[in-house]
Amino acid sequence: MGEYVDATFSKNPSLFKSGVFLWSYLSSNSRERIYLYTMSEKQKLPIMEMFYSLQGEGFHSGKPAFFIRLAGCDVGCVWCDVKESWNAGDHEELSIDHIISEVEKAKADFVVITGGEPAMYDLNNLTNQLHNIGCYIAIETSGAYELNGTFDWVCLSPKKFKPPTISNYKLAQELKVIVLNKHDLSWCEEQRSLVKNKDCKFFLQPEWDKQEIMLPLIIDYVKSNTMWQVSLQTHKYMNIP
Ligand code: SF4
Repeated sequence: MGEYVDATFSKNPSLFKSGVFLWSYLSSNSRERIYLYTMSEKQKLPIMEMFYSLQGEGFHSGKPAFFIRLAGCDVGCVWCDVKESWNAGDHEELSIDHIISEVEKAKADFVVITGGEPAMYDLNNLTNQLHNIGCYIAIETSGAYELNGTFDWVCLSPKKFKPPTISNYKLAQELKVIVLNKHDLSWCEEQRSLVKNKDCKFFLQPEWDKQEIMLPLIIDYVKSNTMWQVSLQTHKYMNIP
């Protein structure tokens, strides 16, 4: 996490330097004081992988995207295809600066923060710095934890194992329900009724291993429930990460 540096600006003008965020207030003796926040060069996040590819699913499907996959998840979906992400301790912790330099190297302008469950972490510093370099930021979350950060696109993918918080239903710009069985086609309506954003996009995505059985049912469902769209994991068809 970041460090607070208590300083009197008038005596320490050199403390203004690039890479610091500052705010000020008047203390009880009316002396202007400046608190400098070092933008958390020291904050590290457990990263399972980072790569530049295409967003394969949901609203932004087909767009070039730099993926930051944070490690750590306690949601426990039985069908999870990234179980190796669950234990954050199995993965390297990388500094925000390091992460940003990888995004810059890729020359990416669209970043998808995913996991694991990325909302387990305070992402304010990461998202601030990504915005500073001009990135559009999407997050993919189960919504089980409150979001800490500034996101341009919130994809809420609710899981029965650990439901989203009420506030995350308000933030969702995209609701993506993974359909594993027929019951999920009624559960998706429960989830839709909780979303408060009238512009939210609704997607039904077959769980990859059940696709053969579930996709025809989803297609029929979407044809008669036209607020929904089909989402497929197109990156898996393209053999890209
Ligand atoms: S929330 Fe995502 S990472 Fe966590 S168990 Fe479910 S599918 Fe896996």
